[in-house]
Amino acid sequence: MRVTLVDNPKRGRATSASAGGLWPLGESVGLGCGVIFYKAMAGMGTLPEGVHGPGQLPRVFLDFALRSNAMFPALSGELREIAGMDIEWEETSLLFLMYDEGDETFARPLWERCPCGRDLTEWLTPEELAKAEPAVTREVRGALRFEGDNQVNPYKLADAYRVAARNLGATVLTHTEVTGLRIASGRVTAVETTDGPIACDVAVNAAGAWAPQVGRMAGLELPVHPVRGQILGTETLPNVLSACLSTTDCYLAQKGHGEVIIGSTTEEVGFNVGVTPEALKTLSAGAVRAVPFLADVQVKRAWSGLRPGSPDELPILGPVAGLGGYLNACGHFRTGIVTSPLTGLVLAELVAGDRPSVPVEPFLLARFMAADRAGTQGGRSTPVGRA
Ligand SMILES: Cc1cc2nc3c(=O)[nH]c(=O)nc-3n(C[C@H](O)[C@H](O)[C@H](O)COP(=O)(O)OP(=O)(O)OC[C@H]3O[C@@H](n4cnc5c(N)ncnc54)[C@H](O)[C@@H]3O)c2cc1C
Repeated sequence: MRVTLVDNPKRGRATSASAGGLWPLGESVGLGCGVIFYKAMAGMGTLPEGVHGPGQLPRVFLDFALRSNAMFPALSGELREIAGMDIEWEETSLLFLMYDEGDETFARPLWERCPCGRDLTEWLTPEELAKAEPAVTREVRGALRFEGDNQVNPYKLADAYRVAARNLGATVLTHTEVTGLRIASGRVTAVETTDGPIACDVAVNAAGAWAPQVGRMAGLELPVHPVRGQILGTETLPNVLSACLSTTDCYLAQKGHGEVIIGSTTEEVGFNVGVTPEALKTLSAGAVRAVPFLADVQVKRAWSGLRPGSPDELPILGPVAGLGGYLNACGHFRTGIVTSPLTGLVLAELVAGDRPSVPVEPFLLARFMAADRAGTQGGRSTPVGRA
């Protein structure tokens, strides 16, 4: 197939703004930004009625994310070979730090009834945690470890995907805007761009938080909206953390080059990609609480990115009834890095007309139309905040 990637890098694009956490299990049970956001909402008294903890994502998503995550070791080797780049895939595990009784009450059922079974979780006493992660605070009741939740360097991953695509023969048009979709007899026949039209058999809408704009070019309403995440990075440090950490204040991940990434807020502020003093203060205070040594370390950079949020926090993949030559690959919200390999594989299979490696039905746009007809919103697992 002849493939063209059309990408006009917009401020706030998510992939290069992300933390690079591969946390299929942690994210599915509500850790990462889920638990931070829940705690912030609870603190402000703005939790919707009936919400008593960070929401969990459905089993069908967990299976998708686990399978995608399992592709990373081979993907890492493939990208090294094809793109000559190291994506810094690292087996770290994810540790949820329990500061108080509330954290322990949240974590215990996750340990006792983990959707993946006990094999992938480990309950650490404060002594065991101190031995495993000497830089972590001693002011904890313990930690819950999620094995198999790892990390990559997200900037290198994005670059490596692009370079590999180019090396395998794809045309990569950067700084080119998609301005329209040509449709004839119910099929997309060409993508209009600022560099001219590109005739196609299939167009894939992978425009992140901007996917609705591209969808509208084909008369589709996609329920994707920008959800800002603010995040910061320290100066490069010697080895401080072996595992990625998730707490109710922030998450932390030390990258191969030594920078500790500290994330992240969950805010609905449209396409505003600013950073705010309050968020930086709260996130850095949370990081120092988890790893006291960071009090003496400089923050080197702070930025924000726009997650492509969907109403039920699951990606929107695959075809749309009544429109040929068009596929969705959007709405990946806070898990678009870990789900990227399987998304790519499934989309390639759909474009080729092959049976997808995993059923795509749970991720079709049609699920929202069914929910609309039933008069519901499709069941978001975690309420998203306004700032
Ligand atoms: C702070 C933060 C931390 C995160 N941490 C993690 C994490 O640890 N693990 C994880 O799995 N996920 C994480 N995520 C989520 C993840 O980053 C996203 O789900 C994922 O990057 C979405 O990828 P995407 O390709 O759909 O969108 P994007 O990366 O935003 O890419 C969309 C691209 O389309 C381009 N585009 C849009 N419209 C047009 C147009 N008309 N013409 C041409 N180009 C266009 C944009 O410029 C952009 O380059 C995080 C997100 C944020 C913001």
